[in-house]
Amino acid sequence: MAVSISNNLASLRSSIPEGVTLVAVSKFHPAEALMEAYQAGQRVFGESRALELEAKAQELPGDIDWHFIGHLQTNKVRKVVGHASLIHSIDSERLLRAVDEEAAKAGRRIGVLLQLHVAREETKFGFTPDELLEFVTPGLLASLKAVEIRGVMGMASNVDDDTRIRSDFREIRSTFDRLKTTVFAGHPEFSTVSMGMSHDWPIAVDEGSNMIRVGTFIFGEREY
Ligand SMILES: *Cc1c(COP(=O)(O)O)cnc(C)c1O
Repeated sequence: MAVSISNNLASLRSSIPEGVTLVAVSKFHPAEALMEAYQAGQRVFGESRALELEAKAQELPGDIDWHFIGHLQTNKVRKVVGHASLIHSIDSERLLRAVDEEAAKAGRRIGVLLQLHVAREETKFGFTPDELLEFVTPGLLASLKAVEIRGVMGMASNVDDDTRIRSDFREIRSTFDRLKTTVFAGHPEFSTVSMGMSHDWPIAVDEGSNMIRVGTFIFGEREY
C-alpha cells in the first residue's frame, strides 16, 4: 500500500504537543512528496544536501521555510545561505564564520543552531558539551555580523536502549540550559532545542525538545 503522507502528517501532528515545531525531513524524497505535505499544510522542511535544497527551493512554493540539517562543507555554504532560514548543523568555528561571511555578503540574516555531539557513535559531527561551553563567549557573539545563534541541535545514540537515548537528550537539554542562563541570558532568540527523529521524538519532547526533525514517519523509507 502506498504511504499516505497527509495521513502520516495528521497523525503526527495530533500527537505533538503545542509549542513543538515539526520539521518535515524531506531529503531524498521527490518534489511531489513535498507537495503532498505542503498541501496538507506543512511549511517547514528539512534538507541535508546543498544541491538538493537548491533544486527543491527553486521548484517548490516560495513560502516554504527551508531548514538545513546535514553536515555542511564550507564550499557549499553560499548555496545553503541563499535558501535556508535556519541551519541546524553548525559543528565548527570555521563553519560558523563561513556562514556569517556569506550571509553578510548576501545581506541576509540567518539563524543557526550549534550541533552537539553526545551520542555514542564516533562518526557523528558536533561539539561536545564541554567544547561548546568553552567556545561560546560574549566575544564570539559580538563578532558575528549576520548570524543569529538560536539554540542547539543534537542526536541521541543510535541504540535500542531508551535509557541511553533519554540520557543523551537530557545532556543536550542541560547544555542548552547552561548556555541560556549564562552567555545567552538576555537573548530571547536563543530558544530552540532541536532534537528527536522518527523513532525517538517522544522521548526527546519529554526531555525538553521544542523542534523535532521527522522524515521516515512522514514520507516512508528513503531510497539512497
Ligand atoms: C535524516 C535526518 C533526520 C530524520 O530522520 P528520520 O529517522 O527519517 O525521521 C533527522 N535529523 C537529521 C540530522 C537527519 O539527518
